[in-house]
Amino acid sequence: MDIRKLLHEFDIQPKKSLGQNFLVDQRALERIVEAAELGPEDIVLEIGPGLGTLTRLLAARAGRVVAVELDSRLVEALKKILADLSNVEVIHGDILELDPAALLTRAAGFQYKVVANLPYYITSAILRHLLTAAVKPKLMVVTVQLEVARRIVAEPGDMSLLAVSIQFYGRPRIVARIKAGAFYPSPQVDSAVVRIDLHEQPVVEVDDVDSFFEVVRAGFAQRRKQLRNALAAELGLPTNQVAQALSRAGINPKRRAQTLNIKEWARVWKEIQLLEAD
Ligand code: SAM
Repeated sequence: MDIRKLLHEFDIQPKKSLGQNFLVDQRALERIVEAAELGPEDIVLEIGPGLGTLTRLLAARAGRVVAVELDSRLVEALKKILADLSNVEVIHGDILELDPAALLTRAAGFQYKVVANLPYYITSAILRHLLTAAVKPKLMVVTVQLEVARRIVAEPGDMSLLAVSIQFYGRPRIVARIKAGAFYPSPQVDSAVVRIDLHEQPVVEVDDVDSFFEVVRAGFAQRRKQLRNALAAELGLPTNQVAQALSRAGINPKRRAQTLNIKEWARVWKEIQLLEAD
């Protein structure tokens, strides 16, 4: 499928505001599909099918593909472009407003994979939406900006709120790098394909995820500060008490947020909770 021809045929100008950079490099598209390790038993949720290039490859390998597209012009075009595929359903909507489980099935115990070239203006929001959904995907293969990909797979020393948010739910790794020229129109920056295998069992025991992330967010709110000062300032707690809580968690209070791994954050959260309960 030639994207430029299709855009011309359907008289569509790509909208920058919707992150419409279409992937035109066949090899890159194949790498994405390979990373998802699809078989006929798989249900795939695709976000932003655009003009259906990736959708077609997904449909050839998976049992069923549900593709959510926000732009009504593309939805109309997709109905024609993908008319020959019986295992693809195109849904017109904003993924951030839709519950994946309700879109895909009502059956209990079903599993699905997410594969998407994400619209970059809402990358973090979409990842958060899917990772916190009542029924989470078992695997996600997403194309994001290279710099975002690097932040997602960061290790202690370079952690960020984004890295903790993703690594809490799954194990991310970069499986391919895609040059800006592989897209039409070309974005300003290179991209990368990130595969996230969701944890079957949580890696840490956290029974109140919202309060866990409040503590993590507080730690990163002032990332140049030592953890004891950042947490005390953001959570409105006395610095000496926070320092003691950190020591009880086995964390040097002078460390900075970006040096902690997920297990250490869980210990910090537990001790801070005890402080807040006093
Ligand atoms: N999948 C196509 C490809 O690989 O060439 C297009 C990818 S393009 C980077 C992102 C797509 O996401 C666009 O088609 C855009 O219209 C769509 N999109 C943007 N915001 C969306 C949203 N909130 N929900 C669903 N789709 C959205």
